[in-house]
Amino acid sequence: MKKQWVALVALCLIFATAFSSSAFAAETIPGGPSTNGKLSYESVIDYEEMIEGLKKIEHASKGKVEVFTLDEYGKTEQGRSIYAAKVGEGPMKIWVQAQIHGDEKLTTGAVMELLKALGKSGNKEVKQILENSTIYAIPMYNPDGSLMNIRQTVLHDEEGNSLNRRIDLNRDWSENGFAAKESLAVYKFWADVKPDYAVDLHHQGFKTVYGTNYSTSMSLGVSLAPNGPTLPGIKDGLYNDLTRQMSVYVYDALKDYGHMHIDRYQVGGGDSKYEIDIRGGVVSAMMLGLNYNNINPTGHSNPAIFFETKGNTRDGGLGQKSNGHLERQNYLGLKALLYGLATGEVQQVDPDRWEEIPAYPLAGYQTDSGIVPVNQ
Ligand SMILES: [Zn+2]
Repeated sequence: MKKQWVALVALCLIFATAFSSSAFAAETIPGGPSTNGKLSYESVIDYEEMIEGLKKIEHASKGKVEVFTLDEYGKTEQGRSIYAAKVGEGPMKIWVQAQIHGDEKLTTGAVMELLKALGKSGNKEVKQILENSTIYAIPMYNPDGSLMNIRQTVLHDEEGNSLNRRIDLNRDWSENGFAAKESLAVYKFWADVKPDYAVDLHHQGFKTVYGTNYSTSMSLGVSLAPNGPTLPGIKDGLYNDLTRQMSVYVYDALKDYGHMHIDRYQVGGGDSKYEIDIRGGVVSAMMLGLNYNNINPTGHSNPAIFFETKGNTRDGGLGQKSNGHLERQNYLGLKALLYGLATGEVQQVDPDRWEEIPAYPLAGYQTDSGIVPVNQ
């Protein structure tokens, strides 16, 4: 297994350079980039480029990668199509979504690189992924927000006039939610697909790995905290184990790369931090098996984790040199997770090793109804 893994890592590096036309052209920055939380998005794929890119990937894959819109389920508030891609023949369904927050842009490029690799390569590891699983990817969940370079989407009326009301799409899968058309479109698609696993890609601000001066390049998170108030109660603790196993597997895959400093996703300032336990998050709703308007009558659910890459494009600014490195990190993490799930290696991980992923002392849980402290 170890040998296979080394081979996969080598393979990923080959991909990372082989497909380096633009996104991977940037060199790795010794000591990690210093961008003050700002990334240039001039080298980042926009909506039109994504559509172009998906069509090219589909064509080059000779039918392996299927590209389609979610129009039959709905469009965005401003009437754009939400694009998705499907690749693989296996029974295990893995859901990959990126850029639900419109200013978290490197995530889309990582999904594109992944699709390109899965569509093109005939090597053994990719074959294992595609034989054992089927990937459903949404590279840009929030095209309107992406074009406006804002986190949310903006509601519009039937005539296409802005209602000046912003909606965070990642708080919109709830009984009282689904204010935005995007949410319902993707939710209906999810309820049809019924994935077995999911991963959601984001960006965060700056933090340092606990006990070090290293700037965190990526945090691994679960939106219902492992061992927290909610997750251990779902499916007799199954998702509490699987989400930790998924996180550990990605951590193991990335931790020995240069300039990748991975930790657990936590929020709040100071020397102790909070883990999130937020039911309205999209991937939380997946784990909880939300059945809104009887669209998911069987109560389908699936475990999910998320990646939080350093930096965002909210404020514009520079930092282009770091983009390639951060995007590759996302891509390698994604690819490793798919491989680990498809081969069953993830499910063999000791979930308690989650404690080995660097984290700050836990002050409590940030829930929808406020902070739940823990006694230390
Ligand atoms: Zn986000």
